[in-house]
Amino acid sequence: MTVYLVGAGPGDPGLLTRRGAKLLARADVVLHDRLVSPAVLDLVHPGATLIDVGKDPDEGGGARQEEIARLLVEHGRSSAVVVRLKGGDPFLFGRGGEEMDALAQAGIPCEVVPGVTSAFGVPAAVGIPVTHRGLASSVTVVTGRVGEPGAGGGPDWEALARAGGTLVILMGMTTRGVIADALVAGGRAPDTPVAVIERGTTPSERMVRTTLAGLAGVDLEAPAVIVVGAVAALGAQAPTESAGSPLAGRTVVVTRTGQRASGLVDALERAGATVLELPLTRQVDPSDGGAALRTAATGVRDRRWVVLTSVNAVDRFMAALRDARALAPVLVAAVGPATADALRIAGVEPDLVPAEHSARGLVEEFPDAEGSDRGVLFPCADGAPDTITEGLGRKGWDVHRVEAYRTVALSTPEPELLARVAAADALTLTATSSLQAFLALRTPDGAPLPVPAHLVCIGPTTAEAARSAGLDGVHEAWGASGDGIVAELVDHFGPGGGGGS
Ligand code: SAH
Repeated sequence: MTVYLVGAGPGDPGLLTRRGAKLLARADVVLHDRLVSPAVLDLVHPGATLIDVGKDPDEGGGARQEEIARLLVEHGRSSAVVVRLKGGDPFLFGRGGEEMDALAQAGIPCEVVPGVTSAFGVPAAVGIPVTHRGLASSVTVVTGRVGEPGAGGGPDWEALARAGGTLVILMGMTTRGVIADALVAGGRAPDTPVAVIERGTTPSERMVRTTLAGLAGVDLEAPAVIVVGAVAALGAQAPTESAGSPLAGRTVVVTRTGQRASGLVDALERAGATVLELPLTRQVDPSDGGAALRTAATGVRDRRWVVLTSVNAVDRFMAALRDARALAPVLVAAVGPATADALRIAGVEPDLVPAEHSARGLVEEFPDAEGSDRGVLFPCADGAPDTITEGLGRKGWDVHRVEAYRTVALSTPEPELLARVAAADALTLTATSSLQAFLALRTPDGAPLPVPAHLVCIGPTTAEAARSAGLDGVHEAWGASGDGIVAELVDHFGPGGGGGS
């Protein structure tokens, strides 16, 4: 006998509120919009009646509003818990207010459960801050429906253009060309950065960076959020056009530790940086040729867990395993997304990927050992720190550490490359082994190589090692991916960033 107007969030079920999730698990009837993602609908109690009442507002879903109100009243009278589930927040362009009125008129109790709106949640999830010190001190959320020509009703685009700040446009995909023209006519520069994010926070998310001049030509579909303003150039993925590139003119050194730096190099180059690849280390076979790893892999089914903290460890371990079925009874932990993806490529879905992508984060989230089944296999690099072995030992696990590969320093690079490295704006370090190899470099006259002023490390372990080596300007990237490094650099060097010159 209560109808709950619940915001489903932008798509990722992790962004639904706890109250919303609890109601979905208890509901007798759920009436939902087309916009609500399947992953959120999966949280609905299997015994509940699920009714799809909505068209995507971009398809002109308004016509059926009276019918929806009628259904809500009808189910509200006959069922105990009725959830009206709406994409994002129920009151932001969701017609939630009208449904609340209809219920009030019918005398049916109604409770509103707010949601993460796509207007803010979708840009945030790709690293676009809708306000940013020095770039935007206001944000306006606006519908892209421009109304019938001459009939008015749509937003006053020229006034919005004059107001400045960030514009977040919902339901604007069909009218994006008209909107861009109106904003330029109102005085916003044609090269104002724009980000278009389709199906944000879902597995089919796509994003295009462009400018107002390029908005009409963007090849994405509804539902999408359009962000207009300087902040649209910030965030996890780099702009596609060098004109708006936040790292243009910056030289960034990428230390190569094998074959896998290309994702980071691509991401930096998309952001406009000049990338210097400095090969420092290389992975080679373990000192025993891999005999211990093969033995450990053969006996893996007797362990409770396998813990993997690098892509290389995954590759080496899976090769030593020979038959992946041996892993069936074993739980698998991956330190971060890159390691997890390497496992998935090998056909193994990790059971644990910690929220903080570091050895420390993994230890924190790892369960305590119980009973007699305490074996953990940890295939790793020869010089890997003891964080895992000691941390899991404290939780009662019996950790068997086995050398899966060795990291060796390469011979000294050409003097000309060293000189360019010394003059670069930033250095990226993805492991303590590359830090050590970098510190071992010498100029032709035998002096230590000057370290670029800005240092970005993946993960707290490398950052701490850099600090204790006495280096200044050490920063930690957000997350363990190349995008996290780019985001940190853009934040530092990008428009309005602290290190801009
Ligand atoms: N109440 C919703 C908005 C409803 S209007 C909210 O707060 O998010 C519908 C519009 O929202 C779509 O046309 C699109 O512009 C935007 N939208 C909703 N979910 C989205 C998503 N996951 N990714 C991109 N845009 C989304």
